[in-house]
Amino acid sequence: MQSLLILLSAAAISVYAAPAPQAPDQATKSYTVSGDLYGAPTLRGYNPSYPFPTEDTHPEEITYAEHQKEDSPEGISLNFTDVKKPEGIRGNRGGTMASPQNSVLQKQHPDSLAPPTVDHGAVPQMEWPLGMSHVKLGHDNAGWSRQQNVAVLPIATEMAGVNMRLEAGGYRELHWHKAGEWALILNGSVRIQGMNPEGQTFIDDLSKGDVWFFPSGIPHSLQGLENGTEFMLVFDDGEFSEDNTFGVAETFSRNPKEVLAKNFQLPMKSFDNIPEDELFIFQGTAAPKDIQKQNVTGPAGVIPNKESYSFHWSQQEPITTPGGTVKLIDSSTFPIADNLAAALVTIKPGAIREIHWHPTSDEWSFFLSGQARITVYAAEGKARTFDYQTGDVGYIPHAMSHYIENTGHEDVVVLEVIQGKKFTDISLGQWLALTPKQIVKDTLNLDDDVIDSFSKVKPIVVNGPEPPATVE
Ligand code: MN
Ligand code: MN
Repeated sequence: MQSLLILLSAAAISVYAAPAPQAPDQATKSYTVSGDLYGAPTLRGYNPSYPFPTEDTHPEEITYAEHQKEDSPEGISLNFTDVKKPEGIRGNRGGTMASPQNSVLQKQHPDSLAPPTVDHGAVPQMEWPLGMSHVKLGHDNAGWSRQQNVAVLPIATEMAGVNMRLEAGGYRELHWHKAGEWALILNGSVRIQGMNPEGQTFIDDLSKGDVWFFPSGIPHSLQGLENGTEFMLVFDDGEFSEDNTFGVAETFSRNPKEVLAKNFQLPMKSFDNIPEDELFIFQGTAAPKDIQKQNVTGPAGVIPNKESYSFHWSQQEPITTPGGTVKLIDSSTFPIADNLAAALVTIKPGAIREIHWHPTSDEWSFFLSGQARITVYAAEGKARTFDYQTGDVGYIPHAMSHYIENTGHEDVVVLEVIQGKKFTDISLGQWLALTPKQIVKDTLNLDDDVIDSFSKVKPIVVNGPEPPATVE
């Protein structure tokens, strides 16, 4: 150890004791890009003789969104639609953006570019635009799928989403998977079928607004009906991947033909034409209009209604609220999906889905239409405001408070999915209305009439003024 120290100090001395390199003659030395370095070899306090480059880094005139120059505690949503080049400025915080920017993306995320004052600390990403997902293309133009899971949105550990299209006649191959699969049909119509461990069978036709659920391991297939269909699948596992499913074609091609022959008590040549690989999405014979023609039953019969894998949610009347409508589904109406519950919420322009949190579960959400923002309060003084567009997935971890504010001019339709037997949330307003007034008054410093106005019933979606129109 001692000798090492001596060596090190000797080395240090030799470096500092070395004669300083000769500085070039600054008055006469010429510099070229391909030749010498810009600057003296010592690079210490050297004043170059060539013209030092300076440029106007922000030659354009700075343009602001309305309210952007106010560092207002109101935290008004900024609208950059008509702004030529959005800047990272709120009031006297931030500064101009001097390099070229992806302004389309920035205009869609005003609360990331110029965060309101309430935002604080490091809050993980809670948005994934499906438009950035890799699309897995099916065969024969029969459809496609794309997904969001922990690979793209690490916070989303409990649930994952898959968006799928099946053209008319297009199949999603017979398959099963470890995760439970909940689905909302976005458009068109689809025939779905499956079988339970008792050999009871199930087949149904569903259309826009209906849902299905296939529990873990239950084999099923899907086929687009006459106009095709698109749907959003929610899996009860954030690690789920469409690539990690068990397909029927591979079940045949990955078992020895000798075993297939023995298993089915048939000659081996019966299996000469089976597909070699997974089919995933492929074109097939159009499903017969009359579903009875495909109603196959064995001695065990059909799956009883209370265990049905589908629910015609489109037929359920929504609850009307001051700022929009809500439809709820949980295991009380759809028993087979005993650990997934959902709300389909419509929020009018300017209105908000009230500040709330989910006491027992994370929330997986999907924006079917409109644009909105959410401030997630994450405890430890942390909060972040996210902006969502049509086609975006959101994810709010368990117990964190959030709202959904419609920041656009069309209805926001958002699906909130949580894990649990019931759809549960705690309303901030209802909680305070049902807390002894003196406690609220002493804590929040609010006037009596303010506290008296809090609703003892959950407002769910609260009305608000529509944001001013933008020049198109
Ligand atoms: Mn599936
Ligand atoms: Mn929620």
